Amino acid sequence: MAGQMSLPSLKSVIRKIRSGATSAALPDCRGGRFVAVIDCILNQNVRDRGAASFPGMNFELLQLCHEQGVGVMQMPCPEVLALGFERKRPAGTTIRQALDTEAGRRSCSDLAASVAERIQAALAEGSRLLAVLGGNPLSPGCAVHDDERGLLLESGIFMQELQRELRLRGIDVPFRGMRDASPEMLAEDLQWFRNLLTAKPA
Ligand code: SF4
Repeated sequence: MAGQMSLPSLKSVIRKIRSGATSAALPDCRGGRFVAVIDCILNQNVRDRGAASFPGMNFELLQLCHEQGVGVMQMPCPEVLALGFERKRPAGTTIRQALDTEAGRRSCSDLAASVAERIQAALAEGSRLLAVLGGNPLSPGCAVHDDERGLLLESGIFMQELQRELRLRGIDVPFRGMRDASPEMLAEDLQWFRNLLTAKPA
């Protein structure tokens, strides 16, 4: 009958309203929300030798995204991009020192610009970016340390560049490290993430 909504369409509208997405702009069952995550959340094999915390991925985090209908944008590993899988660098140089050179910074800022452009395009399509999820507190590329103004200098070099590129485009979202180096820190970060995903839209 004209004007009557079928059951599948009704379910899809309810799902969109629950997800906090603006239903008018969404053409199908997509929730319209996503997070940008560092490479190793989905693929631990990109980590430096000795640094993996899971055989494959941080499944608990992905499960939360799945349960809440939130998409995941995977950002390439800045260390692999700048230094290769072996993290090649002169003897006696730390990964942080190798990334914090003109060439290393340029590699991180080029990557940040390309990720920020992709995010901007997704936002223009009507999606909403909820957060950028980074890494462990000592990660040279992806650590997140911040105060009320934004990321601090001890943050990973890629994270700093990404926040700068996003802000240049008028995009200001929470950055949070998913600190899987310890179960206690990870539990705290996953709780923060759960709260973020289930918060009612302002
Ligand atoms: S640089 Fe970032 S993406 Fe790459 S392994 Fe380290 S934390 Fe993960």
